Amino acid sequence: MTAVEGDAPRTGFTAAAEQPYTYVRRELTEPDWRRHPGWATVTEAQWRDAQWQRAHSVKNIAQLRAVMGDRLDDAFYADLDADQRSKATMSMLLPPQMLNTMAPHAAPGRQDLTEAFYADPIRRYMLPVLSDRDPEWCSHPYAERDSLHESEMWVEEGLTHRYPTKVLAELLSTCPQYCGHCTRMDLVGNSTPTVGKARLAMHPVDRQDRMLDYLRATPTVRDVVVSGGDVANVPWPRLEAFLGRLLEIDTVRDIRLATKALAGLPQHWLQPAVLEGVQRVSGIAAARGVNLALHTHVNHVQSVTPLVAAAARALLDAGLRDVRNQGVLMRGVNATADDLLDLCLALQGEANILPYYFYMCDMIPNAEHWRTSLWDAQQLQLAIMGYLPGYATPRIVCDVPYVGKRWVHQVAQYDRTLGISYWTKNYRTGLDQAEVDGSGRVYPFYDPIDTLPAAGRSWWRHHGDDDCPVDDDLTDRPRAGVQ
Ligand code: SF4
Repeated sequence: MTAVEGDAPRTGFTAAAEQPYTYVRRELTEPDWRRHPGWATVTEAQWRDAQWQRAHSVKNIAQLRAVMGDRLDDAFYADLDADQRSKATMSMLLPPQMLNTMAPHAAPGRQDLTEAFYADPIRRYMLPVLSDRDPEWCSHPYAERDSLHESEMWVEEGLTHRYPTKVLAELLSTCPQYCGHCTRMDLVGNSTPTVGKARLAMHPVDRQDRMLDYLRATPTVRDVVVSGGDVANVPWPRLEAFLGRLLEIDTVRDIRLATKALAGLPQHWLQPAVLEGVQRVSGIAAARGVNLALHTHVNHVQSVTPLVAAAARALLDAGLRDVRNQGVLMRGVNATADDLLDLCLALQGEANILPYYFYMCDMIPNAEHWRTSLWDAQQLQLAIMGYLPGYATPRIVCDVPYVGKRWVHQVAQYDRTLGISYWTKNYRTGLDQAEVDGSGRVYPFYDPIDTLPAAGRSWWRHHGDDDCPVDDDLTDRPRAGVQ
């Protein structure tokens, strides 16, 4: 159509400022690590070296001080120390790459940097301080260490068979970085003053043999998430050997490698020896028609740097079918539509990482200040619709104990006053095989109590230790799995 002189131009969406969210393409940047006194002389070559990153990961407050110098207030270190001693469920472990993405634009003065650190979304989940936590409702009364009951569903040590066709294989219990909200806090990482960790007991070789035996004997399983911990901590030759044997099982059609290190330590995935190995495994997967992909865990756009994008592209170039992101929805980190869209558009548009899921933060101890209500998650799902390609619009999901992932709008019933949602499932796990009729059963999930109206908060103050109230129309069993 040609414009006719005198007609008003067809302006389409020039009124973009009136949209709830405005997309502006932004170039990725690597924050300059030399701004921190402890890294003032670190060269580009050192920064890109995975071994240098691992050797200089920050594991305690003294090492954090050595990097930041006196540019953080002593009160911040005291706040961090108090959290480590009394609340932290994960020990401190921050590769320089990850620490460098905190407060990237802060002015260098002590007060400015300290304020920026307190407010920073990456800091808030990777380096929690005591004052972040809710003083009254630090934990939900029904929070649990292994909140998804994964170890109850182990069919072999470390092999969780929860869904009919899918398993989770935990090859190890360590990561290159430890996230404060880790859902596997029961097993992953070092013990903290408040949490003595469970341990994998078997020798890794024996454990892997048993896992592979189970998969050979169980042809109904077609999808294997190879995880941990983080597979970046499995020496590549051992991971490649395991994947090679997994690929020999012709009923396995999807393999997903789980690694947050793509964002926390992209240097690992950029090592030539690792990429060459990925290329070999990808070639075998492609020849056998198996979908081999990598799943990562990025929660905020600040983590999406040029090195992260380079690592994702290198893995795709090496032959992986896809690189996908499974973030965690957390208050103070990313629980706004703008934060989610900034992140997803950077992942999708600048790093070739598919925005796939956001999980509601699980009900582990001391996590209430991060968790969102189901209602807020539903509103966020609505708010992010329409800005990304449909295939790249992430689903916000609730991982309901004993059920599995459910889209947040799939809730069966929801009491917003008490903050209890009820969920159903359409399959059985190993734990409920013996049920005569499990079809009418519902499973509860709980909103953080501080987000409830006054009547709900008051109820929990008085009944927090009771069995949860249940709608009789839905079930006669108040707590799924507790009989
Ligand atoms: S990388 Fe994953 S498994 Fe490791 S601490 Fe973070 S959330 Fe837990």
